[in-house]
Amino acid sequence: MPRPIINEDLCKGCGYCTLVCPKHILKIDKERLNALGYHPVKVTNPEECIGCRYCEVVCPEFAIYIEK
Ligand code: SF4
Ligand code: SF4
Repeated sequence: MPRPIINEDLCKGCGYCTLVCPKHILKIDKERLNALGYHPVKVTNPEECIGCRYCEVVCPEFAIYIEK
């Protein structure tokens, strides 16, 4: 099963990955701040990931990748 892995401290909270995810399982976590002072993205329903890698491709910070 594919699984999105987030390197939270690289995330700049731009939200690009949340816009391209066809399953809508990536959300900006407004409750938290990472080491850079941004709201990092979180995965709401990892079991729904279809492994399309759109999130990985679109992320300018290389903060997210898909583990197969
Ligand atoms: S691989 Fe596709 S379905 Fe999975 S989190 Fe990334 S964009 Fe969403
Ligand atoms: S695209 Fe990358 S930097 Fe932007 S919110 Fe998603 S994981 Fe964070």
